[in-house]
Amino acid sequence: MTEAQPTDLTRMTAAALATAIASGACSAVDVAQAHLDRIAAVDDRVHAFLHVDTEGALVAAQAIDAARARGEELGPLAGVPVAVKDVLTTRGVPTTCGSKILEGWRPPYDSTIVRRLREAGLVMLGKTNMDEFAMGSSTEYSAYGATRNPWDLGRIPGGSGGGSAAALAAFEAPLAIGSDTGGSIRQPGSVTGTVGAKPTYGGNSRYGLVAFSSSLDTPGPCGRTVEDTALLHAVMSGHDPLDSTSIPAPVPPVVEAARQGASGDLHGVRVGLIGEFSGDGDEPGVAAATREAIQALVKLGAEIVEVSCPHFQYALPAYYLIAPSECSSNLARFDGVRYGLRVGDDGQRALEEVMSITRDAGFGPEVKRRIIIGTYALSSGYYDAYYGQAQKVRTLITRDFTTAFEQVDVLVSPTTPFVAFPFGSRTADPYQMYLADLYTIPINLYGGPAINVPCGLSEGLPVGLQIAAPTMADDQMYRVAAALESAIGTLTPPEL
Ligand code: GLN
Repeated sequence: MTEAQPTDLTRMTAAALATAIASGACSAVDVAQAHLDRIAAVDDRVHAFLHVDTEGALVAAQAIDAARARGEELGPLAGVPVAVKDVLTTRGVPTTCGSKILEGWRPPYDSTIVRRLREAGLVMLGKTNMDEFAMGSSTEYSAYGATRNPWDLGRIPGGSGGGSAAALAAFEAPLAIGSDTGGSIRQPGSVTGTVGAKPTYGGNSRYGLVAFSSSLDTPGPCGRTVEDTALLHAVMSGHDPLDSTSIPAPVPPVVEAARQGASGDLHGVRVGLIGEFSGDGDEPGVAAATREAIQALVKLGAEIVEVSCPHFQYALPAYYLIAPSECSSNLARFDGVRYGLRVGDDGQRALEEVMSITRDAGFGPEVKRRIIIGTYALSSGYYDAYYGQAQKVRTLITRDFTTAFEQVDVLVSPTTPFVAFPFGSRTADPYQMYLADLYTIPINLYGGPAINVPCGLSEGLPVGLQIAAPTMADDQMYRVAAALESAIGTLTPPEL
C-alpha cells in the first residue's frame, strides 16, 4: 500500500477510484478485493447478489494493473468494479433473471452492454437480484429470496432492480447496471437513496438483455452520484447494429452536462411541473421533500413552468396491457427445451406436456399473471379492444410529452409516491404494487430519458426526485440532476 491509499476503497466514488487506479495510488486488484470483502461481510444480510464472480473480478482487475504497468492508456472507468443486474447475459456466468426457469443457465455470449463494460476495463463483481423477469417493484418476486434495503433491513429495496440499488447503498459496488421497462432503475434508486437513469429508448443496446417488454426495455446506469452515473452511461451507450431499435447517433454529452450542472447554475433552464400530477396519493413526507427539491432548483436559477399532460392518467392501465402482451410473447421461448429447467421429461410424456409442466414449475405467480393477462389481451376478438386501444393511448401520452417539451427543458415529479415499504405489505394486492410506478411509467411509453436523484429523507428513509427530458436529450436531465445534487448532497444509510 502506498501512502495515498484511501482508507476505505468501498466508500469512494467511481470517479475517484478511476483516478486513484490510473495514478497508481491503488491497484485495481486492491479495489476489487475491497469490494469482494465488503460483499462477504454484508451480503448475507442484504442479499443484493445472486452470483459473485470472485475469480472473474480478480482476473479482470489484474489485467488492468498489467495494462497500466505496460504504460497503456486506460479508459475513464478502468479498474472500477460494477455489479450487473441478472437480466443481462454474461458469457459463462450464470444468468437467471431471478427465475427458477433459468436456473443453471450459463449464456454462451455477453450482452452488448457487458461486452462494452469489459472492453472499457470495468471489473464485473457479479450478478444482482431482481424480481423474476423484471416484473415487480420490490424484489419480493425473485425466486431466490428478496433483497433487503440497506436503510432498513425490514423493508424492500425497490424493484425490479433492487439488487443493483442495494449493492450501491450497501457499498458493495460503486456502480451497477439496471434495466427499466416501467421504472425498475428509478424506483429502486428512489427508495435506496441512490442515482439511477433510464436512458432514451434506443440509446442503449438490448442485445443480450433478456426480453420482458421489447418496446419498453431499456438498460441503464446506476451509481451513488450523478457524475458516476453519467460516466457509466457514456461507457455503456451508443449505436449497436445487433439491436434493430438502436439509434445510430452520437451519445448525448452526459458527462460534460453532469459536470456543468455540478456548478449549481440553472439560469435559463425551464423546469416543468405536470398539472395532472396532483400529488394526492403521495405520502406527506414524499410531497414535502419534493417541494423542497423544487425550491432548491428555483434557488439555483431554474424557471418553473406548469404544463398539462392530460393522458397521463391512462398510463398505468395502458402499460399493464402493453407490457404483459409483449411479455406473453417473449416468454414463450422458455419451454424447457432450449434453456435451464426441464421438468417431467420421463420419456413417456408428449413434448407439449413437458413444456407445460416445466413452465408451471419454473415461473412464479406474478410472471404467470402477466402471461395470462397478455395472452388474453392479444387473443383474437380482444386484440383491438385491449392491445390496440393501449397503443392508441400510448400515442396520446407521447403527444403530451412532445407538447410539454415545447415549453420546458425537463419535467420533474416524485420518482415514486412512497418511501420503502415493509416486506409483505403490498404483495397481497397486485394493484398496490403497480402503483409504485405511477410516476415512472409514462416516460417509458414515450421513450425519453429520466433519472432518479435522492432529494431528502422522510422518517429516516430516502425520497427521490425524477427528472425527465426529451428523447436523446439525456444530457439535459444530467445537468439538472447534478445541480440538485450539488444543493442537496448525497444520502448515506446508517451502518449495517
Ligand atoms: N414495476 C414495473 C413492472 O412490474 C416495472 C418493471 C420494470 O421496469 N422492469 O412491470
